[in-house]
Amino acid sequence: MFAGNQNQSRMKGARFPGRYLQGQNALQHLGQEISRFGQRPLLIIDRGVWEILQEPVRNACANLVDIFIERHAGDCTKQEIARLQRHAQQCQADVVVGLGGGKALDTAKAVAWHLATPNIIVPTIAASDAPCSALAVIYREDGSVDHDLFLPRNPDLVLVDSALIAQAPARFLVAGMGDALATFCEAEACRLSNSNNSFGTRGLPIAWTIARQCLDTLFEFGEQALAECRDQQPGEALERIIEANILLSGIGFESGGVAAAHAIHHGLCELHETHAYLHGEKVAVGVLAELLLQQASDEFYQRVKHFCIAIGLPVSLSQLGIHHATPEQLSLVAERACKPGEIIYNEAVEITPERVIRVLQQLA
Ligand SMILES: [Zn+2]
Repeated sequence: MFAGNQNQSRMKGARFPGRYLQGQNALQHLGQEISRFGQRPLLIIDRGVWEILQEPVRNACANLVDIFIERHAGDCTKQEIARLQRHAQQCQADVVVGLGGGKALDTAKAVAWHLATPNIIVPTIAASDAPCSALAVIYREDGSVDHDLFLPRNPDLVLVDSALIAQAPARFLVAGMGDALATFCEAEACRLSNSNNSFGTRGLPIAWTIARQCLDTLFEFGEQALAECRDQQPGEALERIIEANILLSGIGFESGGVAAAHAIHHGLCELHETHAYLHGEKVAVGVLAELLLQQASDEFYQRVKHFCIAIGLPVSLSQLGIHHATPEQLSLVAERACKPGEIIYNEAVEITPERVIRVLQQLA
C-alpha cells in the first residue's frame, strides 16, 4: 500500500495551545493565570506529585481564586473522568487544571471538555509532547488503550515550571527527547506524501518549520540539557529542550502529522517486554526503523543514532528488553504497525510488513 491514501483534504491547518508560559518557578503565577479563566478552579493533581505540589499550589492561588483540589487516581479511564466530572460539578468548578504527568493531564483535558470549561495544563515532567495537544488517550481499567479522544480545542494555557521539570528524574527528559526526535522525521514524511495531520488537514508550512526547529534544538542543546537536569542546575540548554519536548514537538506532531516512528511504537507495545520502557524510549527505536524504511542518508541516520546513544536513548530492540527477537515477535510488531489505515502509510515509501520486519532485524 502506498502513502497518500488520505490526502483528500485541500485544507491546510495548524493548531496551538491558547497560551504557553515557561520558566523557573512559573508555578508561583498559577493563581494569577487561573484567574484569567475562572474563579472556582478544580485542580487535579497527579498522585506522583500530590505531596510536593499541594502547598505551593495553595500558596500560588491564595486570595486569587477559590480552589478545589483532588488527587488523581492514576489512570485516565472513563470511570476516573466521570468521577472527577461529578466532583467538578459538585463544587461548581468553572475551570479545570491538570498538574502532573500524561495520564493526569489527559484526564483533566477530558473533564474540562465534558464540562465545557477552560482547561489549564501544568506538566511536571517533559517526557512527551502530549501537554500542548488536543488529544487524550483513554485507557480501560485493565490498562489497555480504549480509544484516542480528539478534542475540538487545545488547552487554553500550558504553564511549565522548568524548576519542577529539573527536579524530575532525568530519564523523563531523555524520553521526551526521543518523542521529540520523531516529530521532524514524521512531519517530513507527511509533507513528502501529502498526508493529513492529526486533525484531518494537510499541514501548513509553519508545521515543518517548527518540526525542523525542534530537531535542530535537540541536536544543539540535548546533551547539555541532560547534564543540567542531572546536576539539578537548570540553565539555558534545559529551557531550550523543555520548549522542544513540550511546545515545538507538540505543535509539530499535531500540525505536521505522524507516521512510521509512532506506528512502530504501537507495534512494539504489543510485546510485554517493552512495557517497562517509556513512550519516548520506544519511539526512539521507531525513529531509527523509520529512517531505515525511508532509506535516509547514512549521514543523517548516524547523526540521529549517535545523538540517541549520547543521551542514553535505546537504539536497538535488545535495549527495549527484546533479546534475540523471534520471527513471531517481529511479525507481531510489524502486523500491528501495518494495520489497515495506520499512520505508517503516511510514509512516502512503499510499506509492507515484510519491509518492517527487515528493518527491525537490522535493529536487533
Ligand atoms: Zn509521541
